[in-house]
Amino acid sequence: MKTTLRTDLTIADICAGFEFSAAEGKGLYGWGGKLTIQPEYQRHYLYAEDDGKREKSVIDSVLRGYPIGLLYFNEPEQNKFEVLDGQQRITSLGRFIKNYFAVSVQGNPHYFKSMPAAEREKFLTTPLTIYICEGTESEIKAWYKTINITGLELKKQEIANAIYSGAFVTAAKAVFSNSTNSNLYVWKNFFKGNVKRQELLRTALEWVVKSSDDKAVEDYMSRHRLSSDISELENYFESVINWARGVFPNQREEMCGLEWGRLYETYHTKTYDAEKLAAEVAELYAADDDVITSKSGIYEYLLSGRKLTNLLHVRYFKDAVKKRAYNQQTKAAQAKGVSNCPLCAEGKGSRAKKIWDYKEMEADHVTAWSKGGESNINNCQMLCKMHNRAKGNA
Ligand SMILES: [Zn+2]
Repeated sequence: MKTTLRTDLTIADICAGFEFSAAEGKGLYGWGGKLTIQPEYQRHYLYAEDDGKREKSVIDSVLRGYPIGLLYFNEPEQNKFEVLDGQQRITSLGRFIKNYFAVSVQGNPHYFKSMPAAEREKFLTTPLTIYICEGTESEIKAWYKTINITGLELKKQEIANAIYSGAFVTAAKAVFSNSTNSNLYVWKNFFKGNVKRQELLRTALEWVVKSSDDKAVEDYMSRHRLSSDISELENYFESVINWARGVFPNQREEMCGLEWGRLYETYHTKTYDAEKLAAEVAELYAADDDVITSKSGIYEYLLSGRKLTNLLHVRYFKDAVKKRAYNQQTKAAQAKGVSNCPLCAEGKGSRAKKIWDYKEMEADHVTAWSKGGESNINNCQMLCKMHNRAKGNA
C-alpha cells in the first residue's frame, strides 16, 4: 500500500461542507464534498456516547494545541476520498463547528459560535496530519481491521443500541438484556450468546425482522425508535419459543442456538404430533455418531418431513463396509464374467462387462436410508458413479 503525507490541510478544509446525520448517527461528508467520512465498513459515531466525553476531549486537544493524531484517507477514485482512520475525530471537529455540543472553558460551556473570532480562526486554521493511502479495497480493509483491533470492540447490537438509543431500546433492554429476567431460565435453552452484551436482544430482533417488511434489524429499530411499545417484539419472541417448546418438549443441548425464528416462519403453520416427533428424535439420537454427524440438524430434518437429509451430514457407510461389499461383488462378477456394477451388468455394450475400480464406485442403500434401510453390509451395494447418481439420494 502506497502512502503520501499531507500537512497542508486545515480543520477548515476538512470540515468544509460537513454534515451530521442524526438519523444514521454519522458524519457524512467533508473537504467540500470530496471526502466520505463514514464508509460502509466503518463503525458508527460513538464519541457522542457517554455524555460526549470523547468528542469534547478532541476539541480540548485542538484548543490546547495538542496533536489529535494521524488521519488516514483512502483515494478510491481520483479526487474522491474516504476516511480509513479518524472518522470519529473528524466527526467531532465537524459537530463542534456546527454547534452540536459545547466544551467547557474555565468551567463555562463554550459553543463554537460563541467563541471570540480570533479563537475561531485559530481553531479553523489548525493543520492536520493526513496520510493518503492507495491500495486495493481488500488491502485497505485488511489494514483497517489491523489498526482497529486495539480500538473499542463492540458487538453489533451494542453499536445499534447506541445509534438508535431512545424509548424503544430502553424498553427492549429491560426485557432482553436483563439478566434478572426469570424467563431467561427457559430462553437459554433456545438461545446461545451473552445477554449483557445484547446478543439476546439481537436474536429477538433478528427473529421479528424476519416476520416484518424491514430488511435489517437497524431498519426495524429506526422505525420504532421513539416508541416504548415493544409488544410486537416480545409477543413474537414468545410465539417462537412457545412453538419450539410445543413441538420439541424434551430439552436437548443441540436445540440451543438453532435459528428458531426462521424455523418458526417456515414450519409453524404445519401440524406436528409432538409425541411421535419425540420418538423420532430419540431414535435419530440413538444412531451411531459416525452416521449422523450433525445432531443439531435432526430438528429441521424432522420438521421438513424427513426431506432435508443433508442437514444430518450423514455418513452412510463406513469404509470397511464399502470395501467388503466391493470385494464380494467384484469376486462374484468376475466369476460370472459381468460388470461388478449390477446395473451395468444388466445393460449392453462395453459397460456390461466392465470391472470398475473401488474408487470408481459409490455405496448405495438397497432399501433407502430415509425409509429405514440400515447402513450395514446387508443393505449395501456398490454401483458405478453414473448409476449411483442416476438413482438419486439414498
Ligand atoms: Zn453402473
